Amino acid sequence: MNLLQDLPNQQRRAIDAIREVAAEKDCHPFLVGGPVRDLLLGRNGFDVDLALEEGGSTLARALAKRLEGRVRSFPQFLTYKVVAAGYPDIDIATTRKERYRQPGALPAVTAGRLKDDLLRRDFSINALALDLVNDTIHDPTCGEQDILARRLRVLHETSFLDDPTRVFRAIRLATRLGFSIDPETSDLMKSAIASGALSTVSRERVWRELSLAMDEEKAPEILTALCEQGALQILFGRRGTCDLHERLRAVHERLAGEPDLDRYVIYTGVLLRGDASPVDFEGSGFSQKRAKAVVEIANDIPRIEESLAIVREDRERFRIYREISPETLAVIGSELPYEVAHISRYHEFENFKLPLRGNDLEVPGGPHIAIALEQTREAVFNGSIALEEARSYAREVARKLLEQ
Ligand code: ATP
Ligand code: MG
Repeated sequence: MNLLQDLPNQQRRAIDAIREVAAEKDCHPFLVGGPVRDLLLGRNGFDVDLALEEGGSTLARALAKRLEGRVRSFPQFLTYKVVAAGYPDIDIATTRKERYRQPGALPAVTAGRLKDDLLRRDFSINALALDLVNDTIHDPTCGEQDILARRLRVLHETSFLDDPTRVFRAIRLATRLGFSIDPETSDLMKSAIASGALSTVSRERVWRELSLAMDEEKAPEILTALCEQGALQILFGRRGTCDLHERLRAVHERLAGEPDLDRYVIYTGVLLRGDASPVDFEGSGFSQKRAKAVVEIANDIPRIEESLAIVREDRERFRIYREISPETLAVIGSELPYEVAHISRYHEFENFKLPLRGNDLEVPGGPHIAIALEQTREAVFNGSIALEEARSYAREVARKLLEQ
């Protein structure tokens, strides 16, 4: 099928191998859900999610052998993952029927046909399957039409009540793809939120959805929409941050330049601006250290910015920087454009090393050595002494300290 023609090489080879192995083993795999949606949209880099009515384990084992990889099996979910070097991970599931006995609880799962498996899904654009044997598309809910209309639609009236995490999925996916939310779906979503549906889900699951939102390229827009729709009230109560979108966009830009920063800490801090306390993080899995960093961003930035406004020297400024987390520093940089140059200089200073060790000073050992070396590093960095003078300068400082 020409849909698969433009796939990146790794996916192409994976699909070819799946087809060959399926023919040999007489299995009938379907590519399902997100990958089919992304193929129809011409978006590359998709996951390989397969579903079969039967023979999942046979296909998984044979495929792992063919690709010289291994199978991880998750018997309670009837799913397998084939992992092989040079190929994308291949998820293999048995088609299933789901029944929600209680709103918000995990569904009861039984074996089902392909159609059941598509009808249990969240949105029509995800309820699609591509038959890898016959090259046909199964689309029981008119998902292709919705893809063409760039519209997100749930499959039935109680969808958001059955699984309120779909509120997060709807906003995340619609924003990512630039789709509108169908008016009826939007009404259902709003009334589910208003009726407190999200309180039927554990905080852990809500936090997981929130973290997924933070992983997205359009995280600022998604988080703003979640907040505006009231979906975050279940975690954080009723609170609003002014200029939320602008603040999130500004930190998003800082994050792009500094990918090692903890974006979950930063975004949560911005969401809780003004008033965060440890109860807000229940279910987040944040360590104490990360929770502390969030509280610092949420509660302490105005105070830190006031202190920064009155410092004159690098030295004092850097001392303030050193006391706060790198994440807080990044948020400050996103809020105060004039602080950015100082922060860059601080990072330079942090990375600046002197070609000098304690032994080079030839003075008796002790804590004064480290202090002298640090003072010398500072003096060379800010240009008050030349590099050639570093050794004698450090020795002098160490001696003086020793005499005190
Ligand atoms: P992504 O590109 O983010 O991976 P995706 O659509 O593949 O998007 P996944 O979370 O990987 O999303 O889920 C795979 C598929 O499983 C979805 O396409 C959807 O059909 C189905 N699915 C996932 N979560 C739910 C849910 N809460 N309710 C119903 N179906 C779901
Ligand atoms: Mg996926």
